[in-house]
Amino acid sequence: MPHIIAIVQGLVNKGFAYESEGDVYFRVRRFPTYGRLSKRSVDDMSPFAEEGAKEDALDFTLWKGAKPMEPSWESPWGPGRPGWHIECSAMSLNYIGETLDIHGGGQDLVFPHHENEIAQSECFTGALFVRYWLHNGMLQMGQEKMSKSLGNLLTVPEVLDRYSADAMRIFVLGSHYRSPLTYSLDALEAARRGAERLVGAARGGARVGRGRGVPGDPFRQRFMNAMDDDFNTPQALAVLFDLARDINRTRDEGQDTEEGRGTLLELSGVMGLTLEEGRPSLPAEPFIEALVHLRQDLRESKQFSLADQIRSRLTDIGVALEDTPQGTEWRYRRQ
Ligand SMILES: [Zn+2]
Repeated sequence: MPHIIAIVQGLVNKGFAYESEGDVYFRVRRFPTYGRLSKRSVDDMSPFAEEGAKEDALDFTLWKGAKPMEPSWESPWGPGRPGWHIECSAMSLNYIGETLDIHGGGQDLVFPHHENEIAQSECFTGALFVRYWLHNGMLQMGQEKMSKSLGNLLTVPEVLDRYSADAMRIFVLGSHYRSPLTYSLDALEAARRGAERLVGAARGGARVGRGRGVPGDPFRQRFMNAMDDDFNTPQALAVLFDLARDINRTRDEGQDTEEGRGTLLELSGVMGLTLEEGRPSLPAEPFIEALVHLRQDLRESKQFSLADQIRSRLTDIGVALEDTPQGTEWRYRRQ
């Protein structure tokens, strides 16, 4: 909060911001390059729909005076809270410095959020705020954006119950970062098969001896060209699959695959792929159900000591049982 207040005060001192009825606003027209990120002209912008006494409808809030019952902090303009954009500038300037090499974010933040971050940061420091912006496309469920508010959220742990982390990475990297990423079971299944192909090529038996097998350099070069082209990960993945295919072919021909496999592991590592063997973990619930039923059968046949063993083992792994007149209920205990 002190950093935020210092920036707002600095902007007021330099004439880029003004106080009005307990609020502080940024003078958009005082920043000549406002709109350069979202490629909009100030004259075509529709005013921000905000209440308050502003000099110009385009001006945005840096500090908002407290309303009754709202959380608030003390400031030179009375109690209030920060506007929606200033905390990002405060954190960046405080923890990273005046100029960031790369600033990322979703495409939905380009305007007004990042535009406002640029304006308030550059007017405060006088320095360039960001050298490169990376804006990623949204994750979609069919035609809709995946979001908490739409209730169609699928969490990463839920996906990882059924798919390996590599399969999920391949699914994400299969779309260019600026394009929307559309979730579907088909796409995840395809990613799972892709992960298996890469693992098979990288971890399959090595042969030592005849022939050089697959040379790594041409694939490394193609991979770098793809990544140099604004992180074209779908194309870089295609290089990995080509390499895997050639490794398998030369292995079948009885050639040495060490160089090819080393290159495949190296380039996969760049994309965060581990290519580790192993199955995705299975959901635990059906196994817990089966044990609970088994325990009930044991109790009915009066094998209480075995039944108690099952209960205590389940307790050890965080599953609580409760015997009710309707039968045994189970739940995860809070850790
Ligand atoms: Zn931000």
